[in-house]
Amino acid sequence: MTADSPGVPAREEYGEAVRARIAAARLWAAHRAPYLASAVFALNPVILEPVLDEDTGLPVADPEFRAFPADTRWNLHVEPGTALATPVEEIGWWMLHHVGHLVRGHAARSPVRPEPGHRVGHAAGAAGDEEAHRWNQAADAEINDDLEDGDLRGPAGVVSPAELGLPPNRTAEEYVPMLDVLAEAMGRGGGALAEAIDCGGAADGRERPYEDGGSGEGLTRLDRELLERSIAAGIQDRAGARGEVPAGWRRWAGERVRPSVNWRARLGALIRRGAGTAAGRTDFGYRRPSRRAGAYAEIVPPSMVRAVPDTALVIDTSGSVTGDVLDRLLDEVGGVVDGVAGPDRRLRAICCDVRPHPVQVVRRAGDIDLVGGGGTDMRAGIAAAMALRPRPGLVVVLTDGETPWPERRPPAYMVVCLVGDGGHAPDWAAVVRVPADAPRRVTTRGQS
Ligand SMILES: [Zn+2]
Repeated sequence: MTADSPGVPAREEYGEAVRARIAAARLWAAHRAPYLASAVFALNPVILEPVLDEDTGLPVADPEFRAFPADTRWNLHVEPGTALATPVEEIGWWMLHHVGHLVRGHAARSPVRPEPGHRVGHAAGAAGDEEAHRWNQAADAEINDDLEDGDLRGPAGVVSPAELGLPPNRTAEEYVPMLDVLAEAMGRGGGALAEAIDCGGAADGRERPYEDGGSGEGLTRLDRELLERSIAAGIQDRAGARGEVPAGWRRWAGERVRPSVNWRARLGALIRRGAGTAAGRTDFGYRRPSRRAGAYAEIVPPSMVRAVPDTALVIDTSGSVTGDVLDRLLDEVGGVVDGVAGPDRRLRAICCDVRPHPVQVVRRAGDIDLVGGGGTDMRAGIAAAMALRPRPGLVVVLTDGETPWPERRPPAYMVVCLVGDGGHAPDWAAVVRVPADAPRRVTTRGQS
């Protein structure tokens, strides 16, 4: 730093000091977590305008930027005053943390709808901010337990499942309702769950005012895809040779290389999450936390059997998806919806090729009559689902992804099951990729 030099340091001098700090933090992060080194070096630091103290002319730290927030193009936003006031190790920890948000697709998985034309302000109280904040904490929980496993404890005030007494190795979707319950319990005692830390668009998918608005800085979608695969492959190589990679990262790499491995668990988590959102989370059952300090482990994942979300299925029945695959997938989805909503729920299904076919109301997914053929336009099927009354709160789309999508997220919780290796899903949907040759779920039915 040049703080001891007389007068006001030139703008270039801050820049240099900040860049040196970022470089040191990168080296620290790459050294502490060699399995993420290539990811750390792929982060693109963007140095923001400093906020200068009116008297001294020196940059002052802005706590809103304490996380060095990232966006989905792997830009890391560095506020100069914050960078100069933060230990190198802490900046390095945030780098590893943001790699977690980015490679785990937290932005695309975020349940928070980006409002068209609305950019998120830092201290804004806009609708959705509370939900975004909870999602950010849940995503942090998903990442931080794996970092702690690698002996990388976060700075004070960040969410740690271990410290909160929550079970480790859960997804952000699973942590959301647990954190809701905890926050309520702690709020009654006048406490707070964790500090309000904003990790940026990499965590919740919403654009921030300080981002450059997509003018080209950072990684493209293809860059990101290739980078993630190479990080995952690197982790698998290392994990095979020596046991130096924490289990959570090995699991991520395994799923990234072979995305089908854990798709049932992911599909279940997404549908449960969607059901909770659709039902307004008013019907959670949970055990009261004990008074014992640190006994929040008493809280079990909320059961949601009484929440009956209005669920609609939109099924791609164009020629490109075979009936056999759809049959198997419907069996799976039906099983998950049954588990979430109970056996009394009704299911509305719309088969869709280039146009939506008439809605079918069924009790079991297996009763759906698959009609269709020809081209694909899931926009028509989704529009038809949104036109249903009552309007569904949770929509599950089954498709191979070879279709145009609505530009914006429809007003429902959307889960897209992408069958096979091709196609694409929109950024606004929660996505699970399902192998086209998925074996049928083992059931006790039909034993002879
Ligand atoms: Zn975070």
